[in-house]
Amino acid sequence: MHFDLDIDQGGVMKLRRIQDLDMRGKDVLLRLDLNVPMKGDEITDETRINAALPTIEYVAKNSRRFAICSHLGRPKGQPDPKYSLEPVGSRLAEILDKEVVFFTDYATEPTKPVLDQMTESQFMLLENLRFHPGEKLNDVDFSRRLAAGFDCYVDDAFGTVHRSHASVVGVTKGFEPDRCVAGFLIQKETEVMEKLISAPKAPFTVVMGGAKVSDKIAVILKLLDVCNNLLIGGAMAYTFLKFNGASVGSSRVEDDCFDLVESIYSQAEKRNVRITLPCDHTAASEFSETSPAVEVNEKDIPPGLMGLDIGPKTIEDFSRVIKASGTVFWNGPMGVFEWPEFSLGSCGIAKAMAESSAETIVGGGDSVAAVNQVGLAANMSHISTGGGASLEFLEGKALPGLRVLAF
Ligand code: AMP
Repeated sequence: MHFDLDIDQGGVMKLRRIQDLDMRGKDVLLRLDLNVPMKGDEITDETRINAALPTIEYVAKNSRRFAICSHLGRPKGQPDPKYSLEPVGSRLAEILDKEVVFFTDYATEPTKPVLDQMTESQFMLLENLRFHPGEKLNDVDFSRRLAAGFDCYVDDAFGTVHRSHASVVGVTKGFEPDRCVAGFLIQKETEVMEKLISAPKAPFTVVMGGAKVSDKIAVILKLLDVCNNLLIGGAMAYTFLKFNGASVGSSRVEDDCFDLVESIYSQAEKRNVRITLPCDHTAASEFSETSPAVEVNEKDIPPGLMGLDIGPKTIEDFSRVIKASGTVFWNGPMGVFEWPEFSLGSCGIAKAMAESSAETIVGGGDSVAAVNQVGLAANMSHISTGGGASLEFLEGKALPGLRVLAF
């Protein structure tokens, strides 16, 4: 089966797939998203490594030799030891039971002689792509250097397919188009998101949270075309509550977004979508981790307090809707989940989704972190490894990293 991606205003694209590429005797450049959270040299969450394993193992088994490349963090276009991929290389070597050849000089030195020295029990890892300004600039010369020495390019970095970066877009110019293919993760992510917008099992509930309405407006409007319920939490809920005339105390509000909120209500009305807002809150007098949590048992928040999480009654209401759904898509935390006192709302949503028999899809870094915090990742139908990419895909945008892998 090929994946039809309706990403271009009606134009249907099919992705070239790794399983259709004959890579026997070939040297493969594999772009992954190994942007894992780190504490010093320690990887604190291996989700992205695990998600890439099927493709790595397939390439290891079928190719002659392979090199992995990825970005990590935001090193500002220059080497920064804090963002070195070396610890990731050591972990991969352990998992794959192979030796890692860590190559740092690929922007100035040719890769081929290093590849030629490699044995069967080795794989190459290129140092953080973002140590070089050419990566984000999609620079032609940097792209050419990345591709040089390889026969094929496999992209499985779903988290960066919305970026026109050298290792995602420019590099493909160094290969025949049919030698540039999507790995298993990109195929799975796009298949899940495609199904979400084309054939979700009803009732379809969208749970939206996070910091800003303005960041999510496009995807909300798109999802309103196909969903039945929209549950809103996080800071963005206060803009909706204020729009509806509620008191929000000193909660974070985007006063310049009322027209966006109005367009959401008008679209929801046309499509008969029910929008539910928080009816109680966990608040604090200031935006601080140590500020004591105050329960506000009603919709209105008194002056001097700011809502930092949805309250227990809202968790109950949202959970009831989630459990009665056929499909649930969640993006954005319900509160400041990074601080334990204000994480109960996000944990509650994760639990309700885990207990629901619905198809449950979590898309977005912070909501995924909340699911991991409560250890319920295995109970979700799908956890997207790319927050930004999944939202842009759902918005219907033509994603540059997918275009270059399409027929
Ligand atoms: P986003 O990247 O838009 O999904 O937003 C995630 C961020 O929103 C997280 O860092 C949360 O701490 C923050 N957030 C969620 N709820 C609130 C709130 N009620 N007030 C302030 N920040 C919030």
